[in-house]
Order: sequence, then structure tokens, then C-alpha cells
Amino acid sequence: MEADAYRPYFLIIGLLVITSLALATTVDVNSTDTAGIRMALPDHIAEWQGDEIRYCLNSACQRIWLASQLTNMEVCPACGGPLDGMSYAERRLLPPDTVILKKRYTNRRGESLVVSIVLSGKERASIHRPQVCLVGQGREIVKSRVVEVPLQGRRPVKVMLLDLLVHPGRLAGPSQLRGEYYAYWFVGSGRETPFHLERMFWMAWDRVVHNLAHRWAYIAVAGDRNLSDDKHVEKVRRLIHDLYPHLTRT
Ligand SMILES: [Zn+2]
Repeated sequence: MEADAYRPYFLIIGLLVITSLALATTVDVNSTDTAGIRMALPDHIAEWQGDEIRYCLNSACQRIWLASQLTNMEVCPACGGPLDGMSYAERRLLPPDTVILKKRYTNRRGESLVVSIVLSGKERASIHRPQVCLVGQGREIVKSRVVEVPLQGRRPVKVMLLDLLVHPGRLAGPSQLRGEYYAYWFVGSGRETPFHLERMFWMAWDRVVHNLAHRWAYIAVAGDRNLSDDKHVEKVRRLIHDLYPHLTRT
């Protein structure tokens, strides 16, 4: 854990060096469409049952649907507009070759969570530092740590786990303070990291050293947590342990 604390600083220095190199040696970079993972989310993850989330891209409608409510995954039943895996706002902000998949998972105990995969386009603007998008709208990050998820037949995957505090709106009382969690990691071709900076480093490295720009994926698991305990840590660990084999390319 000690080494992890200093990792960002080494990465910043590394990034500066690589970026300087990249600027000095402007060569044509070969883009590849190969993602480091399978771009699909399973219908079931152990006890969890998945339902894909589809967004209406018509600016006047922007309704959100679950696949179980739809007969046609491509057409909005309310307005006839096109449906997509990303929202209207995301579609407007992100490069057009970005792909987003989201599924809401529920279990028999009535718990739910959302798993999403963002597959970046050829430009790095597709994937932002998650912390930037989470803060705001009354959300505050109260804890962040790297959690290791044990996997069969290989080393554990490291995941960044954030504990969020959701402040109630102006109208609600103080009792409505809620807890959420947000866990994520990045996958590139043959690479994995929970650190945004490390991903930036590998992107720059592959560009300069291997003359290659491949598409990175950003996988996230989000849900509610109790304010008084850490039970969500084990829940996230188990879910990612069960989800991971589905994402692996065969
Ligand atoms: Zn619509």
C-alpha cells in the first residue's frame, strides 16, 4: 500500500517525459480497434440479474428505459427517437466513436447496482478522470482506496473504490444523507490499472514506444452503501470476481 501512495508522483514524472518525447517525435500512430475486453455485459452475474439501460437521444424527450420495458432496443416508445447506451449529454460531450454499455443488476434481496463499460474512441478525451464526473450534484468523495479482487488462475485485479456521501437537496432534511460507492478500473490491450494517471502513462508509452493507439475501456460498478459499515467492500469484491471472467477476451 505504501508504494501505491507514491505511485501518482512517479507517474506524473513519467508522463512528462513521455509527452515531451511524443511532441519531439511526431510520427503517424497506428490506431487499432481492438479493445482489451469483450464489449458485452452478461445477463446474469451470480445472484444478480441484469437489465440493460437505454437512453433516448431525442433532446426533447431524453427518457431512460430498461431493456425489459422495450420491444425494440433501438427506438424510444415515447417519442420514436433513437435509443443508445449513453445519455443525450454523454453523446454530446464524448467523441462519436465512444461506446457505452450500462446494465442495472438486481438481486432477490431487492438490492441493485449499475455496471458500466465505456470504450474510448481513438482520442483520449473519451475517458475522464472519474472523480471529476462524480463530484458535484451534492456528491462528495469521503474515502478512496485500492481493493484487490482475487481471480482464478491469475494475479488479483486492482480496483479503485470510492465511498461517496450524497448530500440531500435543499428541501430534504439532514436525515436523508445517503451513502454510495463507485468502483472502477481501466483495461487496455494487455494492461490493467485502477489509476487514471497510469492509464495516461501507458497510452503515451504505447504511442511513443510502440507507435500504437489502442482503445481503452473503463469499467465501473456503482451502488448504494450503508453509512455505518463497510459491507459494500466485500459486495464489490464478490461482484467483480464474478463479472471479470465475462469480460475477458477469448
Ligand atoms: Zn424519446
